[in-house]
Amino acid sequence: MVEQKLADDEGRLSALRRLDVMDTGPEEPFEKIVTLVRTVLAVPIATVTLVDRHRQWFKAQRGLDVPETPRSISFCTHTIRQRDPLIVEDAHLDQRFADNPLVLGAPRIRSYAGIPLRTPEGYNVGSLCAMDNKPRRFSPADIAILSNFANIVSDELELRLIAQSDYLTGALTRRGFEEQAKRELARHSRYGRPSALVMIDVDHFKSVNDSHGHPAGDEVLRQLADISLDTLRPSDAFGRLGGEEFAVLLPETGGADALAAAERLRQAVEAHSFDLPGGTRLKITASLGVASVSPGLASVGDWFARADAMLYEAKNGGRNCSRLALQD
Ligand code: GH3
Ligand code: MG
Ligand code: MG
Repeated sequence: MVEQKLADDEGRLSALRRLDVMDTGPEEPFEKIVTLVRTVLAVPIATVTLVDRHRQWFKAQRGLDVPETPRSISFCTHTIRQRDPLIVEDAHLDQRFADNPLVLGAPRIRSYAGIPLRTPEGYNVGSLCAMDNKPRRFSPADIAILSNFANIVSDELELRLIAQSDYLTGALTRRGFEEQAKRELARHSRYGRPSALVMIDVDHFKSVNDSHGHPAGDEVLRQLADISLDTLRPSDAFGRLGGEEFAVLLPETGGADALAAAERLRQAVEAHSFDLPGGTRLKITASLGVASVSPGLASVGDWFARADAMLYEAKNGGRNCSRLALQD
């Protein structure tokens, strides 16, 4: 039953995790929508709010100066419990909100309209909100406009996921992968958590194309991605950086364990028989470069360069092997 989903917070949180949007940087479609909401509805505050287990986090916002607040004091935690818009004309007259710190103190929310952001599975992951510092009526036209914008936000949340996956292998695109790497690096700077990056490049791939044709090469890449995903943990991120080059992010993994994971992956590729259309069976190998995250890294570019240098070493070392960068 649909309404059960409104009470299923764990299912809702999985739907939110699937969107893979929490703690990401500003993105244009959402920035545009909050700007439009503020202008069209003439409100000082507009947000795209996502409701996490214990916090509400603003994917985009105008008129607020915090990135998140505790969930317990959020208006949106009420909005996501219903299918219809939540409208509060005067927070002082509403017992749910009259003593709320966001009403009594900054940003002094007095009126609120929030439209649930619904995923295709039927979970409300957050809401699109318009807020004012004075009491106000939201007309049916205001709510219709806000609802249309909320539909756009929900569509964009799905579209940005599609744009992050590579059409051939389903792996993350380079852009999507770099975004993940940025987050890992930030997690390392903030909490000192370990993480490792593995770069993978197929050995002599040009000869696969030359001997068997480009479509056969494509099939090899597809199977390589499948093998890699089978070998990795669900928490690992797998991306296609371009051509026959792939990469893995291993959260909570130090250098030695990452090297072991890279070796498992290398051996799985070496052991696999690539079945090509037409009955041809092919063996291939790959070379891998590993670099763990460390305080010496100034940027994601640095981190990639370090793993890439190790990949180069692996190629020079005779291919079909893995090399780990020494920690600084
Ligand atoms: P090495 O062992 O030094 O890595 O040799 P290599 O032949 O793999 O290296 P190189 O980078 O020179 O060649 C990569 C080849 O991958 C060249 C290019 O035609 C092919 N390639 C890149 N993208 C695709 C793709 O999407 N599909 C197919 N079939 N081939 C691709
Ligand atoms: Mg290459
Ligand atoms: Mg290659």
